Amino acid sequence: MNKAIQQAVKLYPSVIDYLSLPNRLAARKAAPIPRDELERRLTRLIGGVERRYLSVLENSGGSLPFTFWQDYERDLREQIAAPMRSQIEQSFTNYSDYVNFIDQAGAVGDIDTAMTRAIDEVARGVADTSRRQFEALLREGVSYDEIVERMALRFSSGHAEQIAITELTRAEAHFADALASRLSEQGVQSQIRWQTSEDEKVCPICSPADHKLRDEAINTPRGGWNGQTWGDRFGRPPAHPRCRCLTIVELPTRRPSG
Ligand SMILES: [Zn+2]
Repeated sequence: MNKAIQQAVKLYPSVIDYLSLPNRLAARKAAPIPRDELERRLTRLIGGVERRYLSVLENSGGSLPFTFWQDYERDLREQIAAPMRSQIEQSFTNYSDYVNFIDQAGAVGDIDTAMTRAIDEVARGVADTSRRQFEALLREGVSYDEIVERMALRFSSGHAEQIAITELTRAEAHFADALASRLSEQGVQSQIRWQTSEDEKVCPICSPADHKLRDEAINTPRGGWNGQTWGDRFGRPPAHPRCRCLTIVELPTRRPSG
């Protein structure tokens, strides 16, 4: 990629939104955003939406605006789109040597599909969970002030951060699946391997799956997994809230670079 573009992206990160996808991928590869920085950005954006809608709840005196949940979901979707897109684009750059010899145009289309799907799912999932909680409280006959208190509690105490961490993981896993099925359509059989984040945050839930292939039966000393695969058990990451595990697409004889 053009040096001038790289320089511009470094100085003004938002320039990246105006580049074509191939140039964006090159820029991501040249200046990757660390995962924890993306988590913080996403946390801040989700927190902003939650505070805004909490104040609508507080001020509505019990009769929510007709489009409340719809608006909440739409705003979430708008806010999370950019960081989740960066995350998926960044994973894609790790696989550039795969897609170069297969079908770049098709693979580029896959990223876009995986992105849209992940972003929609996250916004819908988060909005639905909040809505279900709110409606359950209404059905229980809890007073409106109490409902506002409980929703405030839901939106505080690390809720936005939990969504950010978990959903970045989900986005990445969706992308890995999309890439694997694209490869398979091209007649290339790949394998998907689970990889925990291998830092101090790894939890006992995911550690038996570490470095195992999707169809590999896992036996744990106490029989917790009993020959199940991680595919049987979790489908794909995240395995639990705040899961930071990855799935890596591998060709039988090659591994992704970077
Ligand atoms: Zn995990």
